[in-house]
Amino acid sequence: MAYQTTNPYDGKVLEKFTESTAAELETKLARAAACYSAWRTTSFTERRTVLKRAAAIMRERSDEFATLITLEMGKLIDQSRGEVAISAAILDYYADNAEEFLAPQKLDVNKGEAIVESHPVGVLFGVEPWNYPYYQIVRFAAPNLMAGNVVMVKHASNVPQCARAFEKLMEEAGAPAGAYTNLYISKEQVAQVIDDPRIKGVALTGSEAAGAIVAARAGLNLKKTTMELGGSDAFIVLEDADLDEAVKQGVIGRMGNMGQACTASKRFIVVESLADQFLAKFKAALVGFKPGNPMDSKTTLGPLSSQEALDKLLDQIKRALAAGAKADVGGNRLDLPGAFMEPTILTNIEKSNPAYYEEFFGPVALFFRVPDEKAAIALANDSPFGLGGSVFSKDIERAKRVARQIDTGMMFINKPNSTSPELPFGGIKNSGYGRELSSAGIQEFVNKKLIRIE
Ligand code: NAP
Repeated sequence: MAYQTTNPYDGKVLEKFTESTAAELETKLARAAACYSAWRTTSFTERRTVLKRAAAIMRERSDEFATLITLEMGKLIDQSRGEVAISAAILDYYADNAEEFLAPQKLDVNKGEAIVESHPVGVLFGVEPWNYPYYQIVRFAAPNLMAGNVVMVKHASNVPQCARAFEKLMEEAGAPAGAYTNLYISKEQVAQVIDDPRIKGVALTGSEAAGAIVAARAGLNLKKTTMELGGSDAFIVLEDADLDEAVKQGVIGRMGNMGQACTASKRFIVVESLADQFLAKFKAALVGFKPGNPMDSKTTLGPLSSQEALDKLLDQIKRALAAGAKADVGGNRLDLPGAFMEPTILTNIEKSNPAYYEEFFGPVALFFRVPDEKAAIALANDSPFGLGGSVFSKDIERAKRVARQIDTGMMFINKPNSTSPELPFGGIKNSGYGRELSSAGIQEFVNKKLIRIE
């Protein structure tokens, strides 16, 4: 897809961008490699100054950064401001903690000395999605810049202004030319960049399809990757849950970012004794969402990120209904010029229905009723994905026991998935591998080098 800003609220094309020529791409690769040879020797203090300044600028000009998100992918403006705030917090977090996370470790040896040091590996390449246009790139860029690597990013083609704004931000914060490079490149050029010997590692956040292509290409080049892919998180409500709280959190879990989050609550698995009541209250809450301009703080239902995203979701719903599912509420687009989708609940989803194993990237909840806890765990685990999930019960020890049995990278008790700089983020199975954020996120692309003295 060509790089352009199309406002999903009204379908207007606002700005078009040209892709890099081969010569421009080569110049950027060479500049990044040259920058690495100097950046790798800078002190943590020097790197910290750049990241701290970037965080401060994001906060100072929060509205400017937030407006671009809403303009390009339709996020409700208050949620866009929230994304700017957490992006700044991640910059600060790695600025403050990287030195400690990467401190040399002395090993306990019988004789002499053994130390494991953390060294940067070089120029890294990230392929990033549109759903959190700054947060996703900060998760990759902040720890790696602090580790002494430099990064190049191919952002999603529908958020080119956010991509440009972040590159300018890093420049303004004092990052040397080549430390952070935005690339407007084609899929063929993505493959060329992965093949380039100057690139030492590749990170992708996005769909399974893109992940498989990029990981395969990196594998051919024996380059390490991290993959943050899709999810279909279970939201388990046990019979001893606080029903109203579970409904309230379920609405947040499904509707945040208009449902376009990898860790959104997507499969609602409710024990029979609460199922009817949960469904009735959940439905009542979802029909209360008010469509409107996402720039207006009073709007609660914004557009999806693009017309294509809406078409894909409508097609999935059509196939689900044809295979026997029922739309308990919603199921259609709204009669508005933008990419607006009705909040939807699908029930009666049999295992033979394609919807059973698919990720619905929008405000569409899959609802399942189960006889008991054991069946809830079995259903939650019957998924190709393993990203996050939630368990609702007033008995915290019981909820923890259930959480331990769900095959995912993250589980939340009595809350939908959420994120914070210090919490490791990532999945298993088709949701990918590797971790971002926390102390774990900075260890992915460093050389753990042994120095032995006997
Ligand atoms: P996507 O289509 O995979 O796009 C993600 C990025 O990959 C974009 O920059 C895209 O570029 C690029 N891309 C797509 N196909 C490619 C190919 N063949 N070669 C090279 N690059 C390619 O995913 P999306 O629809 O934007 O995002 C939604 C998906 O991301 C969902 O599955 C969601 O769950 C997942 N996600 C996961 C996480 C996580 O942390 N686990 C976080 C957010 C989203 P173009 O835009 O130019 O196509």
